[in-house]
Amino acid sequence: MAATPNPQPADSVEVRRYNRLQRWLSMADTVIGFALLVVLLVTGWTGKLRDWSYLGAHQNYFLAVFLYVLMFSIIAKVLSAPFDAVGFRLEHQYNLSNQKVRSWLWDECKGWLVNLVLGTIMVELVYGIIRLAPQRWWIVAWAVFVGLFLLMAQLAPVVLMPIFYKFKPLENETLRERLTRLGERAGTRVRGVYEWKLSEKSKKANAALTGLGSTRRIILSDTLLEHYTDDEIEAILAHELGHHVRRHIFKGILVQVGITFLGFWLVNLVLRLVLARNWFPVLSSRLYDFANLPLMVLVVTVLGFLLMPALNAISRRHEREADRYAWENIAMIEPFIAAMQKLAEQNLAEREPSKFIEWFFHSHPSIGKRIAAAEAWASQHQSVEAESVT
Ligand SMILES: [Zn+2]
Repeated sequence: MAATPNPQPADSVEVRRYNRLQRWLSMADTVIGFALLVVLLVTGWTGKLRDWSYLGAHQNYFLAVFLYVLMFSIIAKVLSAPFDAVGFRLEHQYNLSNQKVRSWLWDECKGWLVNLVLGTIMVELVYGIIRLAPQRWWIVAWAVFVGLFLLMAQLAPVVLMPIFYKFKPLENETLRERLTRLGERAGTRVRGVYEWKLSEKSKKANAALTGLGSTRRIILSDTLLEHYTDDEIEAILAHELGHHVRRHIFKGILVQVGITFLGFWLVNLVLRLVLARNWFPVLSSRLYDFANLPLMVLVVTVLGFLLMPALNAISRRHEREADRYAWENIAMIEPFIAAMQKLAEQNLAEREPSKFIEWFFHSHPSIGKRIAAAEAWASQHQSVEAESVT
């Protein structure tokens, strides 16, 4: 007999509103960022920023580039700060946050600083390469960025994430044994499982596979370890292991490499076109005039926005593969379904978002779909097993 699917509770008004507000907030933030770039170009203010940068840097090019990035990042932060503050309040209003104002402000400062450092490295590299190889700069820059991505993927769990969260190796002996057994069955060895101290900031639960090569690891939030049974955590571990076995991080980097190639090619094309037609008189005809940075960022932003549905579709496909891997490698399907239900409840996730919202915004299939797929898989499997017995 096929298992009858459990009726899933519908999304409450509260859940719908929380998710809607979150989406509006991130859209508004994106629009403001976009508007800043357009305003800088149309008004010619990007030229003023460039002139001040040269003045402050005593005409030193690379120092001037840094000062430009610094001023740009201060303006961008000031403009997006109100949205960040509303986002912080929203998490508290919906009782999803444990974070105090001071700790949040400190995180905002650290986040701004990390972005400034990474942004400076990338922008200095791009303009340095433009000066060295003005004709083929975009291919050279692409190759350098590929190396940068690989380095960042490797450093993320050991350098970047610890700036914001504490991590420690998982102490639960039973869970570690279960993971080792899951890994042995898959013929792979997971180098580490870490407890992620998310509870200092959030009531939400999360788990992820991160890192590359020697830094590859599974991280499980303490909010998950506290509230889920060992069977449920094993189901989540199996899902993360599925990402590892199916090489999803590597595939994600490959996609990024392809998009970056397209991005640099397009930036070069647009820059040359705009400069040739003199659309923004403030920009000098020389490519290394860093006043054209808003134009570069604008092209990348528009491209990223247009590609979002495609990138999310790839991500959702990876999630479905990891789910399937989990079902095949755990003894029973029920803990997987129970874990999904708990995650939806704890994180106020929409079980049934509209088709468009899921297509455009979601990197994961909706919880409703994941549970339905698990049930369909289990019922198919159980009926096959039943037939082979009779
Ligand atoms: Zn996943």
